[in-house]
Amino acid sequence: MADECIFCKIVRKEMPSQPIYEDHDLVAFPDIRPVAPVHVLIVPKEHMVNLNDVGKNDAGLLGKMLRLSAKIANDKGIAESGYRIVINNGDDGGQIVPHLHLHLIGGKALDPKMG
Ligand code: AMP
Ligand code: ZN
Repeated sequence: MADECIFCKIVRKEMPSQPIYEDHDLVAFPDIRPVAPVHVLIVPKEHMVNLNDVGKNDAGLLGKMLRLSAKIANDKGIAESGYRIVINNGDDGGQIVPHLHLHLIGGKALDPKMG
């Protein structure tokens, strides 16, 4: 429910965050519990729970999320050292916040094992 959704509240500026990027479609802000020196969340302003909610008209939005990740990684100086992009999707995927978001994680060598 978008009314109670914490990321919708951040989008509506009802909850504080320190956005590092914002446009008509997307907002990006630091994860409150970073797992690495760089840990940024890239969030569509429109409420959608996860990839299960993404329709064919949202393909451009997903592309924008990935391009913004690469830009922020570059701005943060980790483009060359490398980084990980993660979308936790649904319960088994470890999704906690039910509003689609992409994690940009880097600034240290990450464990190559996933899952
Ligand atoms: P997940 O749903 O598992 O992909 O993870 C949600 C992420 O959102 C976690 O890494 C949290 O630390 C992060 N998070 C939750 N609330 C906030 C908040 N108010 N501001 C920034 N990050 C948050
Ligand atoms: Zn939401």
